[in-house]
Amino acid sequence: MPLLDVKNLKVYFPAKHGAFSRARDFVKAVDDVSFTIAPGETLGLVGESGCGKTTLGRAIVRLVELTAGSILFEGENLAQLNGATLRARRRNVQMIFQDPYGSLNPRMTVADIIAEALDIHGLVDTQSARQKQIAELLQAVGLDAAYAQRYPHEFSGGQRQRIGIARALAVEPKLIVCDEPVSALDVSVQAQIINLLQDLQQERGIAYLFIAHDLAVVEHISRRVMVMYLGKVVELAEAKAIIQAPKHPYTQALISAVPEVDPDTKRKRIVLSGDVPSPIRPPSGCRFHPRCPVAEYPRCQTEAPELRQVAARHGAACHLVKPLSFAGSD
Ligand code: SF4
Repeated sequence: MPLLDVKNLKVYFPAKHGAFSRARDFVKAVDDVSFTIAPGETLGLVGESGCGKTTLGRAIVRLVELTAGSILFEGENLAQLNGATLRARRRNVQMIFQDPYGSLNPRMTVADIIAEALDIHGLVDTQSARQKQIAELLQAVGLDAAYAQRYPHEFSGGQRQRIGIARALAVEPKLIVCDEPVSALDVSVQAQIINLLQDLQQERGIAYLFIAHDLAVVEHISRRVMVMYLGKVVELAEAKAIIQAPKHPYTQALISAVPEVDPDTKRKRIVLSGDVPSPIRPPSGCRFHPRCPVAEYPRCQTEAPELRQVAARHGAACHLVKPLSFAGSD
């Protein structure tokens, strides 16, 4: 059984057109998305800004309202939980945020930041047990236990992200949603944080949904990679297959923009025209068609492609990519 099994998830927000608007438009941030994550696995999630990847991450930890679909965690549907039961289950699924400056309360000490979840879930009985736990967590993320009484502003960006990771680890989650955890950090610090996340995964068997726009980082840390465009999953496959043999024209364009991802593979740069369209009124048919260099009309404009299996453990949503024949599927 997968650890996480997301089925047909939709997250729509009411669109704001102005103070007096009564229009009933919706931003379709996540639109019918399905995927699984196995215990201890890292699934990378990539796409341009505005594709819905952060909303998807927040939906899984139930930080945003869900419109439809299910989020099965160890078989239990988190989408149907609320109140005390949801709070109790939240222990299993934690989140690390992009901004290590904004995500830590500046008025709380490091000890209180890390122990907040311990206190909420009643995981420590005594002050000495609390202090011991905080010290162990700080050491686990490579920080000195003596830092416990300091405040966030006394730390560098990398150190703050380590504090954020310690906070997530405190309740021993089985899955951590990592929302662009290294994007705001210097390149030299990025590698240290990635290595730390990998070490913690080895030691504790944690699964990650690793959200990033940097394909090189995602390829390094992920077993499989999922590519989103305008609220939809357009490709999902093992990391190596996505990098070396992307099937979807959008993924091909993303990969072509990052030559250092695979220096052995010579690729022509594919430059996409225009920006990502508005998710309020996404293009008809294939949402990528106005920017797709190989779109075929009228089909691509009228018919939405399904995510189909196009190779072993490889899904793509494009009319031009042949599905794996039934006999040849694994
Ligand atoms: Fe391009 Fe058509 Fe494939 Fe969409 S379905 S990616 S528009 S070729």
